[in-house]
Amino acid sequence: MSVLLKNATFIDWQTLKFKQTNILTGLGTSSYLEFPDDIPNEFENHEVLDCSGLFVTKSFANAHHHIYSALSRGMPPPDIPPKNFYEKLKYVWWKLDKSLDSEIIEASALYAAMMSLKAGVTFIIDHHASPYAIENSLPVIATAFEKVGVSHLLCYEVSDRDGKERAAEGLKLTSEYLKHHQGLVGLHASFTVSDQTMKEAALLAEKFQSGVHIHVAEDQFDEEHCQSNYQMSVIDRLDGFGFLQMPKSIFVHCLHLDDRETKRLSDGRAWIVENMESNLNNRVGIFQSKNTGNRIMLGTDGMHSNMIRSAQWAYFAGLQNDPQLPDTIYHRLRNVHHYLSYNRFSGDSENNFVVLDYNTPTEINSNNYCGHFIYGMDATHVKHVISGGKLVVKDRQLTLANENDILLFSKEMGRKLWTKMKGI
Ligand SMILES: [Zn+2]
Repeated sequence: MSVLLKNATFIDWQTLKFKQTNILTGLGTSSYLEFPDDIPNEFENHEVLDCSGLFVTKSFANAHHHIYSALSRGMPPPDIPPKNFYEKLKYVWWKLDKSLDSEIIEASALYAAMMSLKAGVTFIIDHHASPYAIENSLPVIATAFEKVGVSHLLCYEVSDRDGKERAAEGLKLTSEYLKHHQGLVGLHASFTVSDQTMKEAALLAEKFQSGVHIHVAEDQFDEEHCQSNYQMSVIDRLDGFGFLQMPKSIFVHCLHLDDRETKRLSDGRAWIVENMESNLNNRVGIFQSKNTGNRIMLGTDGMHSNMIRSAQWAYFAGLQNDPQLPDTIYHRLRNVHHYLSYNRFSGDSENNFVVLDYNTPTEINSNNYCGHFIYGMDATHVKHVISGGKLVVKDRQLTLANENDILLFSKEMGRKLWTKMKGI
C-alpha cells in the first residue's frame, strides 16, 4: 500500500532545507514522489500517517555490516584470551563464522534487518563469511532482508585462510550470485588472499562490471604481511589487480596507510568505509581522514545496526586525533547514497523515509540540524520507516514480519551457534 505522510516537516537530506508539506509516495524504486499542498480526496490506496510535529527525511544506509556476527552478543569469551588483532580473528570471529549454518545465517540476517529498520536503516551493504556453509548463504541473507523490508548489496568474503577449495567455493558462489543479483566481489583482506584468488576475483569484478569489498590495513599486521610476502604495500597490491580504479570498490578501514598510499587511494575511484566503534573495540587504531579524499562512508562493521550511533561515535572518538565538524560526519554518513546512486544500484530510492519523533528542547533548522543529529538524535526517535514507498515500521514495530518470532528464532539459533563454537 502507498503511503501519505500528512503535515510533515520534511528535511531534504542533501540541502538540509526544511519544509512543511504532505508527502505522497507510491511503491517501488522508481515510483512517484509528490509533495502536494492539498491532500487528495482518494485515500483508499494509501496508508495515511499524521506526521504533525514529526520530522521526515531520507532513511539511512549502512556501508559495511557483517550480519554473521549478529548472534555474538553475550557469548562466552574465548578459551585463549587474544593478545592481538590476528588472534582475535583466530580465536573469536573465525571460530564463529565456521560454526554458521544456513538457519543460523537466516536468523542473523532477520535480526540484523529488524534492528536496522528500527534504527531507520533501509539499505545494508553486507560482507559475509561462513566457510562451512558457503553455498546458498547470500540468497538466504537476501531473502531474509527482503522479508523484513531491507534493500541490500551483498558479497561473500572470499579467503584462502581455510584452503584453496573454500576460496574456490567462495568465488563460485559470487559468480552464481552476481548472475541474478546486484552485489560485489567480496575478499577478506590482503593477508588471507593469495595472488591467484586476487586474480580470479579481479576477473569476476570485470566480468560483472562490479567492484571488490575488502578490509584494508585494518591492523598494522596487514601491511607487514604484505611487505614481507609481496614486497609491496597493501594499496599497491590491490592496485596491481585494478581494484583501486573500480568505482564500485569498497575499501574498509584503511587505518595504517602511509602518505603515498593515501594519495594513491584518493587519486583512484574506490570508496573508504570508516567503522569507529569496531576499531576502538579491536584496538587497531583511529581512522585518519587527512588526504584520503571525499569518498568516505560510515559502517557498523557488525557491531550493531544503528547508523545514527555510528555517526556519533565517528564524531566523538575522532575528536582526539582527527577532529571534524558535525556537518562533515553527517555528510560521511550520507555519502553511501552517492555511492549507491553513482553506481546505479537499486533499492536506495528517494521514497525511502524515516519519520523521527524528535521532541527538541531548542530550535532546529537547516543551520544547526547536524548539531542536533550528533548531540541529540538516537534510534528511539525512529517512529515510522518507509522503504521503497512501503511502510515497513509503523509506531516502532515491523509491519512485514513478527518481531517476537524473529527474537525467539534468533535466541534459539544463538544457543546453537555458541554450542557449535565450543567444538571448534
Ligand atoms: Zn568488516
